Amino acid sequence: MITLKGVDKIYRTKEIETLALENVNLDIEKGEFVSIMGPSGCGKSTLLNIIGLLDVPTNGTVTIMGDKTGNMNDSRLSEFRNRNIGFVFQSFHLIPSLNVADNVALPLAYRHGVSGKERDEKVAEVLTRLGLSHRMRHFPGQLSGGQCQRVAIARAIIGDPQIVLADEPTGNLDSTMGQEVMEILHALNKEDGRTIVMVTHNESQARMTDRIIRFFDGRQVE
Ligand code: ADP
Ligand code: ADP
Repeated sequence: MITLKGVDKIYRTKEIETLALENVNLDIEKGEFVSIMGPSGCGKSTLLNIIGLLDVPTNGTVTIMGDKTGNMNDSRLSEFRNRNIGFVFQSFHLIPSLNVADNVALPLAYRHGVSGKERDEKVAEVLTRLGLSHRMRHFPGQLSGGQCQRVAIARAIIGDPQIVLADEPTGNLDSTMGQEVMEILHALNKEDGRTIVMVTHNESQARMTDRIIRFFDGRQVE
């Protein structure tokens, strides 16, 4: 599903060069739920951004669902990303001025051939699944952290992506809400068969996934 071969990432500014990833080789199967762990600064977010096609490697290749992404131009890349990859962030990244339904509908706005009626039905369907159908007209500022993250997950899956990438999805939540979010991610994996890659600092959450990949200083160590 996701293959990285010989991936390096070097950030260059005028004075400094940072080797954020060094020779990363990864194979993630369809339907796997993988955790990425390691200390702060070891390259986890960089890795997730590269898998999510938000950033490009300095060296090496990224193949997603059989497609070599290095050959794609920018518009093909964003179309491919919009169709196949959903993102969940630690800090939710909801738009404060849009209500829940409009936040969740956003990814469909960039998709051709989706009518207003289909969009509304899809929004209602995912919000019902996530237990938020009674919060459609609320704004993010009126919700708890756990509810915000459920809205963000609804937005991540509304376009029905095969791959969901989560960067510390429970990092800003208390343990009860964090547990709730983990149960949702497990359902997206087990019931829907989506491939999930999650960055986490939480060992017990990671142990409940199929595989833990550990990083240190930009390198895979385990
Ligand atoms: P993690 O997510 O594990 O905390 P990151 O992927 O954010 O690690 O960062 C890996 C390394 O790359 C760090 O040393 C960080 O300082 C550096 N880095 C990340 N983003 C940039 C950037 N845009 N420009 C320069 N250096 C960066
Ligand atoms: P933190 O503040 O701990 O880094 P965030 O959830 O804000 O956690 O961000 C996690 C990662 O997602 C970071 O590497 C960041 O660069 C990236 N990111 C944040 N916002 C966006 C966005 N709107 N689009 C793409 N990438 C983003």
